[in-house]
Amino acid sequence: MPHSIKILPSDLANKIAAGEVVGRPASVVKELVENSIDAQATSITVIIKDGGKTLIHVIDDGIGMSGEDAVVAFERHATSKISTYDDLENIRTLGFRGEALAATAAVSQLEMRTRQRESDVGVKVTVEGGNKSDIVPDSYTPGTSVMVKNLFYNTPGRRNFLKSNNTEFKHIFDVIQRVALSHPAMALKFVSDDETILQLHPSELLERVKDVFGEKLSQTVFEFEYGSTPIRLKGLLGKPDFARKSRVEQYLYLNDRYIINRSINHAVFQAYENLLEKGSFPFFILFLTVDPHTVDVNVHPSKMEVKFEDESSMYRFVLSSIRKALSDHDLVPTVGMVVRARQEAASVSDFSRLRRLHSALSTGER
Ligand code: ADP
Ligand code: MG
Repeated sequence: MPHSIKILPSDLANKIAAGEVVGRPASVVKELVENSIDAQATSITVIIKDGGKTLIHVIDDGIGMSGEDAVVAFERHATSKISTYDDLENIRTLGFRGEALAATAAVSQLEMRTRQRESDVGVKVTVEGGNKSDIVPDSYTPGTSVMVKNLFYNTPGRRNFLKSNNTEFKHIFDVIQRVALSHPAMALKFVSDDETILQLHPSELLERVKDVFGEKLSQTVFEFEYGSTPIRLKGLLGKPDFARKSRVEQYLYLNDRYIINRSINHAVFQAYENLLEKGSFPFFILFLTVDPHTVDVNVHPSKMEVKFEDESSMYRFVLSSIRKALSDHDLVPTVGMVVRARQEAASVSDFSRLRRLHSALSTGER
């Protein structure tokens, strides 16, 4: 077979990149909302139709873009957020890879309207399947509106992988909830198939939890905060008596970015050990703040996984902070439990059981 290497045309390269960045409508919503947050929006509206398959529209009141930037923004690796390697090691924004707009535009029919706060006039850019077809002046209000129509219309393989409208809606709702919890000061409206699902006004975390999960849940949690710069942990913890039967209501943020991290989740669970019934899990919303130099957020295009420089000290920090938070709220085992645990410990030989009881004792005696 003749061997010839070609550089792929940029629209094909963008379609390939889109496969990683834009897996489903919810990932488009995540990327667009993150752009709005990075643009210092104080209010974001998300409108979807058919689980985001036919329409995803994100409107913000952020800093907007100049006409020039509005065009460049759709190029691959176009970003205003980093310019040097040191910036990459010191990420303070949610975005930085410069892929989302290019990738989304490559696999949809997209229309963006944007205007800078200090400008009298904005622009409207229309992109179809990655080809910019139109750029015109536009009398938009300050901020940015990105309308993504018919996602994956030109990548049938990917479109066929989409699940039902309901399932895609659920994934989008998860994304919206995660943002709502990490940015309580931001107004957030979510409309699906012409129905207003959420309309959240600026507030504090506990108030926001009430608005998102309801009054009842908000009465089963307490706020805490430990540590100081450069490592801080704060948020809301569920009281053990109200533990849940699944892990779904566990929210972990690193420098305001929603992340998934088994090790930290385990540290939290460990701190609750002996306070929970078997098979139940604590509710938590945790905000971990660290020096960006000590963590790598560029592990995966979705940016939901991170790598800590020193994972075991992070584990210990979380474990001891949560233990302290629980004990400060008198939620550690009572003396009676400790005595019972001692008696039990004396009568068992199973090693792992002993270890568990041992840690019950040390928690109880703190
Ligand atoms: P990244 O967010 O990684 O920089 P994107 O492709 O998501 O890459 O966006 C490219 C650039 O477009 C951003 O760096 C930013 O300058 C600009 N941009 C995108 N969305 C918005 C927005 N809602 N408001 C203002 N600027 C935006
Ligand atoms: Mg982005």
